[in-house]
Amino acid sequence: MRVLVTGGAGFIGSHLSERLLKDGHEVICLDNFFTGCKNNIDHLMDYHQFELIRHDIIEPILLEVDRIYNLACPASPVHYQFNPVKTIKTSVMGTINMLGLAKRVKARILQASTSEVYGDPLVHPQTEDYWGNVNPIGIRSCYDEGKRVAETLMMDYHRQNGVDIRIVRIFNTYGPRMAENDGRVVSNFVIQALRNEEITVYGDGSQTRSFCFVSDLVEGLVSMMENELDFVGPVNLGNPVENTILEFAEKIVSITGSKSKIVFKTLPKDDPKQRKPDITLAKSKLDWSPSIDLVAGLRSTVAYFETQLSKGARRRD
Ligand code: NAD
Ligand code: UDP
Repeated sequence: MRVLVTGGAGFIGSHLSERLLKDGHEVICLDNFFTGCKNNIDHLMDYHQFELIRHDIIEPILLEVDRIYNLACPASPVHYQFNPVKTIKTSVMGTINMLGLAKRVKARILQASTSEVYGDPLVHPQTEDYWGNVNPIGIRSCYDEGKRVAETLMMDYHRQNGVDIRIVRIFNTYGPRMAENDGRVVSNFVIQALRNEEITVYGDGSQTRSFCFVSDLVEGLVSMMENELDFVGPVNLGNPVENTILEFAEKIVSITGSKSKIVFKTLPKDDPKQRKPDITLAKSKLDWSPSIDLVAGLRSTVAYFETQLSKGARRRD
């Protein structure tokens, strides 16, 4: 098949593109390089079936494809709050463009939605039938509400135009090729630990997150896209093992053997207090559940950042 991956030069998109190529598909990677980078996909350039297009999904594009994974959107709070209007345009106008393309060429389209559609959830763990607790006017809403509208658009194109859709709600995912500077907790803590700098826990660290390794997530994305049950979702994809952020910081100090001290900083506004996916639906419909435990996943992530930091040091020499 010919598969379009928007946001293909980003963290998750680059792993997904690699997997699709290995499965024998042609991959068109489309990216505006806002948060993605060519280094993430350098190793894919030698594949005859890999094509890279610099394009912004806010603008329409004409292509002939069988599948569309719509991943284009900055994902870390620092990046999506950098230009909030652009973030919401990406989720709304970008998704309309991708749905228009899917409709024209009769492609199946999967939307990368997020656990952020549950906002600061009052139901725990989060099930797909929970409608969420999102502040519509806060600093996170450009991302949260953008993704909620993207889900609405997917469902309306499906009901009104018969577009073949899939919706996944991705929970915190980590692994090699996360951007060093994206401000997310995994990259921040690992880099701080490797540099023996202070580890910055926001608030008192009692807020929780559940971390899924990227290879598990990619498996879930492909299973959802290719399920032939006509199961459109939304479905949660994430690892249900929940950690407080303070426990997570301690784990990273221990795995890296760092001399870093943990310090406490102001909690950002609207930071969700708890997050943990209920993955009953993914298990029953897709036979999917994550297999990489946190320590193993973190070891491979630490190894990646060690290499990145030493490349940076060599460049400075
Ligand atoms: P990322 O920032 O590494 O990747 C996003 C990619 O999209 C980047 O390559 C970026 O340059 C590209 N992009 C952004 N705006 C674009 C636009 N207008 N046109 C074309 N390309 C554009 O983030 P990621 O972690 O790989 O996330 C990928 C997708 O998964 C996003 O849609 C994100 O919302 C979703 N998601 C990720 C997580 C996570 O924990 N990583 C959790 C929930 C949802
Ligand atoms: N966080 C932290 N220190 C950091 C970065 C993040 O304590 O240096 C916290 C953040 O406040 C949130 C959690 O870690 O409670 C996860 O943050 P991230 O930005 O990775 O993703 P989110 O799930 O909030 O979108």
